[in-house]
Amino acid sequence: MRIILHVDMDCFFAQCEERERPQIKGKPVVVGADPKNGAGRGVVSTCNYEARAFGIKSAMPISAAWKRCPNAIFLPHNFELYSSASRAVMAIFRKYSHKFEQVSIDEAYLDISHAESHDAARKIALAIKAEALEKEKLTCSIGIGPNKLVAKIAAGERKPNGLTIIPAEEVEPFLFPKKAGALFGIGIKTEQRLNELGIMTVQDIANTPEEVLAENFGSFGYSMLAMAHGNDDREIVQEWITKSIGRQITFEHDTRDERKIMDVIDSIIPEIYRELRSQDFTYKTLVLKVRYSDFETHTKNKTLPHHTNNIKALRLMAQENLARFLMDKRKIRLIGMSVHNLREKHIKQPQQTLTI
Ligand SMILES: [Mg+2]
Repeated sequence: MRIILHVDMDCFFAQCEERERPQIKGKPVVVGADPKNGAGRGVVSTCNYEARAFGIKSAMPISAAWKRCPNAIFLPHNFELYSSASRAVMAIFRKYSHKFEQVSIDEAYLDISHAESHDAARKIALAIKAEALEKEKLTCSIGIGPNKLVAKIAAGERKPNGLTIIPAEEVEPFLFPKKAGALFGIGIKTEQRLNELGIMTVQDIANTPEEVLAENFGSFGYSMLAMAHGNDDREIVQEWITKSIGRQITFEHDTRDERKIMDVIDSIIPEIYRELRSQDFTYKTLVLKVRYSDFETHTKNKTLPHHTNNIKALRLMAQENLARFLMDKRKIRLIGMSVHNLREKHIKQPQQTLTI
């Protein structure tokens, strides 16, 4: 059974600002352009739920937001704050599945099929929410479903701090009452065109013959129909943000002195190790790089049969490879070391429950 989880931070920029300035919590907060007492240009980026109560929304002109609530707290973007908070929460999410895809600064998909049941999936979702709240003091909303489409729509179902699980057999009852625009790729214009054809809801799309959809919307008509039935087989696109960890050092004077070079390697290894540990990575491949005095650069790789974070193995491999580099008569100008083929050490498995 395929189980996909979509996690979306709640009004992310505004929540980051509230976390940094506890005194504004509970007040309407709007992050975006400068309102300049109602004369400002530009739009609202995000706002908290208190501001939404005044009818303020993302992408609304900032002047309109000011009109609705001049006493709101208007803040400029602090992207450094948001990206550091994003990195921190993504590092938490990533621990719960090898199949992880970050889709924006505050949203990610995880394939948690390894949970094997919706009960276990719920535990993973609760653990993710608890860890983000405990470590980063930020709340998120999570949707779980058989694919990306359903998981994403489910995440928006109960905001803020929501959790919605839609098993395969509930997908159609969940989607059918929604407006057509709830589906991916159906923007305002497409929705208007659908409405002109008398198609208002997802169920209406599902009941429309595919020829009619194809005639009006081309090939997208077929996607629309598949989505209306809750079908979506897009994979989680994995990308490793950290591809390798390494350091290099240039000697003050070129050298062939093995002791001196090993001293430098011994100063690099703990740094690499610390970074591996901080991200909970294991490595499989070590690369030793040497630049000779004439600037010619060579590398030697060694790949282990298993992933490890063993520091002794690192040093031993470096020593063996250095001996081979030193067979050359040229002096060494720079030495570099890096580990590749990184993988996360602990993928959190749902706790096993004992059934009697
Ligand atoms: Mg969000």
